[in-house]
Amino acid sequence: MKKIYLHIHRDGMTSSSHHTNDAALAPMERKLIDMYRDKDGLYTQPAEISVEREVWESHNRDRAAFHGFYADKETGNPHSVDWSHGRYNCGRCNMEQNKLCIFLKPSKDLPQRDGGVGPVNMESGSCEHFEGKRLGDSELKAFNMVDSDGYGVAKNGKGFGCPVCPYAEKRVEPDSAGRTLWCKFWATAVDEMACCKYNAAPVL
Ligand code: SF4
Ligand code: SF4
Repeated sequence: MKKIYLHIHRDGMTSSSHHTNDAALAPMERKLIDMYRDKDGLYTQPAEISVEREVWESHNRDRAAFHGFYADKETGNPHSVDWSHGRYNCGRCNMEQNKLCIFLKPSKDLPQRDGGVGPVNMESGSCEHFEGKRLGDSELKAFNMVDSDGYGVAKNGKGFGCPVCPYAEKRVEPDSAGRTLWCKFWATAVDEMACCKYNAAPVL
């Protein structure tokens, strides 16, 4: 495959050039990092606190936001955080309407009903598409758009969130933004009000 690069000259005229994909695929000597892991493959929390630790934790948190929908006050999409309770359940989600979800595709657990799928479990059901309920956010009836594979009902009866995730433990000290937990899955500091797609709280 060839790419065409457009060059803009000082006089405003343009010209184009062609580069082969071989050139684009030339080795790039970026840094690959590994960290100490427990026997279960999860990342072990370092004992020390430092500026450098906050820097690489911040980088890992951005990875969690991109690949796992993690969010907090400085990371990811703030609309997907349940700021007041840190309880990620359908009852607190903007996509819930009359105990139905207006976003997910129907499935065995969430059959199609008038205007949505469900009923969803208002207290302990949730999925990775949780959005905090807000009057200022009108929702599109996007029902039938997204697979419902990620929907689950937590055994704990109160839904999901970092504090109930088995991958979370107390951080040695809160970081400079007040995050009190260490996430062994993403190797980073996380907020007690946050959550992500890979929450491993047991489900029914
Ligand atoms: S299933 Fe997901 S998107 Fe639908 S109401 Fe529950 S948390 Fe929101
Ligand atoms: S503690 Fe669990 S829910 Fe929170 S970011 Fe880590 S894996 Fe996700």
